[in-house]
Amino acid sequence: MPNLNENYLKLQENYLFSEIAHRVAAYTKQHPEKNVIRLGIGDVTRPLCQCAGEALLEGAKEMMSADTFKGYGPEQGYEDTRKAIVDYYKRSGVEINASAVFVSDGAKSDTGNITDLFAHDNVILIPTPVYPVYVDSNVMCGNKVEYIEGNADNDFLPMPDWDQHADIIYICSPNNPTGACYNKSQLKEWVDYARKNQAVILFDAAYEAFVSDPELPRSIYAVEGAKQCAIEFCSLSKTAGFTGTRCGYTIVPQELVFTASTGEEMSLNAMWNRRQCTKYNGTSYIVQKAAAAVFSEEGIRQCQENLEYYRENARVITDTLSDLGIRFYGGVHSPYVWFECPKDMDSWTFFDYLLHEIQVVGTPGAGFGENGKRYFRLTSFGTYENTVEAMKRFRNLLETNKKQKVRVLLIGKVFFLKKT
Ligand code: PLP
Repeated sequence: MPNLNENYLKLQENYLFSEIAHRVAAYTKQHPEKNVIRLGIGDVTRPLCQCAGEALLEGAKEMMSADTFKGYGPEQGYEDTRKAIVDYYKRSGVEINASAVFVSDGAKSDTGNITDLFAHDNVILIPTPVYPVYVDSNVMCGNKVEYIEGNADNDFLPMPDWDQHADIIYICSPNNPTGACYNKSQLKEWVDYARKNQAVILFDAAYEAFVSDPELPRSIYAVEGAKQCAIEFCSLSKTAGFTGTRCGYTIVPQELVFTASTGEEMSLNAMWNRRQCTKYNGTSYIVQKAAAAVFSEEGIRQCQENLEYYRENARVITDTLSDLGIRFYGGVHSPYVWFECPKDMDSWTFFDYLLHEIQVVGTPGAGFGENGKRYFRLTSFGTYENTVEAMKRFRNLLETNKKQKVRVLLIGKVFFLKKT
């Protein structure tokens, strides 16, 4: 019998989205007549843009002809795709070396696999709340993590504690689930802190394309000194609707060189290259061709049209919350809107409340860590019609509740006055 990786026993029993799916399935089985609206899982609804779709078809045609057929490609990605990514960064003023770019099948794989490069005795800082893959992938390989607290006091943008040492720091900006986005001076402080500690920042920029304020950094490399301390992950999933097509990339600058216990110099770029060449056989040619088309100026323009559709949905959600006097985060440079559950409910209670009362599915904040337990996430990735309908139901539910509360208070007051 093999000895098993018992770290898996330490993982939370149910992955967030399977628990949501389970509760929704149980509800729809009991109430098949109800129209359930899903604003929970972070999957997109807009189709691929024209540029990407045409490139996929062209790529498929090339694969059907002996003259243009492609077998195994370079593990790091085709030159054209890497160059298209470099040019995309250049257009926003960030210089990247093409050999630092590794094309992959998505940011989930890369953010999960990056633990391969590090030993297991590091001080690892992970924000709470955040995308659960960072914690789970560290737990799986037996790493201990320390949490950096995002909360209402810091607008869910935790800053470094200069008295605490760190070796590895995860940052997700714009953040999933809170939608909070660091500005340049805040990211600069993280970069300065990382350099002082000789730490590595693992920067997840999966939602960078949602940032519409040119003053806000879409890449950590917009901050001076970041190439000396940061790896950046990015994804085409949300930028270009590639959740099903699958493509992402990771940037590991050549500047990231550390001294091993033997005294030898180790380059993270060389290590990631070795890791990918050993365990990954490259992203499919067809998909990379589509990815290169996405990063062209026309491709990005077309993708931004889709993102504008989601931004409109986000406005529908945030306008409703504002009208109801509910404080929220995100929804501007992010597809996610994050808010405290009303009426002192915890997030799973609020999830069940919305599902049962108005048949709207959101995501309980508890799934993103301890600090999410009293918060809730709605996404703008639904259709416009569904978002409008969901928010109409949400508004009615909470306004009715408010009126009922006032009525109870008034009845109580009248009763009290009569008695006195
Ligand atoms: N990083 C963050 C912060 C995410 O929210 C997600 C998906 O929801 C991913 C990475 C995964 O991206 P991909 O679809 O490229 O694997």
